Amino acid sequence: MTRIYLDNNATTQVAPEVVEAMMPYLTANFGNASSIHWFGQQARNAVEKAREQVAKLIHARPGEVIFTSGGTESDNASIFGVILAARAATRHVITSAIEHHAVLNTAQAAEKLGVSVTYVRTGPGGVVDPDDVKRAIRPDTVLISIMHANNEIGAIQPIEEISRIALEHDIFFHTDAVQSIGKIPVDVEKLGVDLLSLSAHKLYGPKGVGAMYIRRGTILKPLFYGGHHERDHRPGTENVPGIVGLAKAAELSLAHLGEDAERVRELRDRLEQGILERVPRASVNGDASRRLPNTSNLCFDHVEGEGFVIAMDLRGVACSTGAACSSGTVEPSHVLSAIGRTADQARSSIRLSLGRYNTSEDVEAALEIFPDVVERLRSISPHYKPVGARAQGR
Ligand code: PLP
Repeated sequence: MTRIYLDNNATTQVAPEVVEAMMPYLTANFGNASSIHWFGQQARNAVEKAREQVAKLIHARPGEVIFTSGGTESDNASIFGVILAARAATRHVITSAIEHHAVLNTAQAAEKLGVSVTYVRTGPGGVVDPDDVKRAIRPDTVLISIMHANNEIGAIQPIEEISRIALEHDIFFHTDAVQSIGKIPVDVEKLGVDLLSLSAHKLYGPKGVGAMYIRRGTILKPLFYGGHHERDHRPGTENVPGIVGLAKAAELSLAHLGEDAERVRELRDRLEQGILERVPRASVNGDASRRLPNTSNLCFDHVEGEGFVIAMDLRGVACSTGAACSSGTVEPSHVLSAIGRTADQARSSIRLSLGRYNTSEDVEAALEIFPDVVERLRSISPHYKPVGARAQGR
């Protein structure tokens, strides 16, 4: 069976060029970047070159890039880093209800330690209103953390407007750019952020490595204690092959971003339009005009999302729901709930996320399979009545 991968927001295939760049650091160049001998120096040079490359991707200075184990660590280190460095009197954080759990659960952990957190809501499009952020500011607000683009519906947030508000009020501003990196331009100067999280495996790099941008002058405490790696921000022997892989992925992204995005947008639109034309009672979740070029989140009335993903997988198509399965029950996605979808609508939604390696053949094949799977699942739903069924007395 030919397999079609439409889950690029979960993770991406590692680019062959990335594998090739990493190989020497998994074999002959195995040195510890802190060692002063030749082996160590090979590794050190590779890490510092990688820092320059990642800095170039986001328009930062190399000294403002710190390597981490991925998006989750970068989010935790940014949020807790600022909170721990703040005076006890300034411990209010503003974030949004549609953040990834790497931010939401970090904010909730901070609340348990006495930090006060405001979760701003969004409208039905899934976009935060900067005025809501402004209204949430208190004299003790120390940090605003709003994601650049949402992982489930792709909604792009007004980061530049929010950063102006943060600057006016002298509040640190962090953005989780894990989903936007590699899909749309990410420029820390234009965005005006103090802290930014990114992860290699969402941009055709390896898993378990990422980076954190820390604007010069941002005061934060480290999460971990150990050696003096990464300018004391992040102790631990550097993951040299992973860092080299991230840098190669960043280089490829810089070279191909425009053409990748346009090609993927065209494929996404063809897939989405094709589904909406072929499948009755289907709708797009979130603001279709202000979202990542690769993401489509669709609601199919009376189709249970998890069942749909399994049925699609059996036909060779990998997609996902936004739902988190906890203790045996499928919780409706917090993002879809936050944008005002009912629990039933959220449970009937699926996410399609395309990427660099998808082809028009993938789209055509998926379009053959989709209507069939939806129809079959609806035919066994006790609640679904086809349009006109009542009139026909069925
Ligand atoms: N933030 C967002 C928006 C994400 O989509 C993800 C991963 O899905 C993460 C953070 C976590 O990144 P990582 O898997 O590198 O820990």
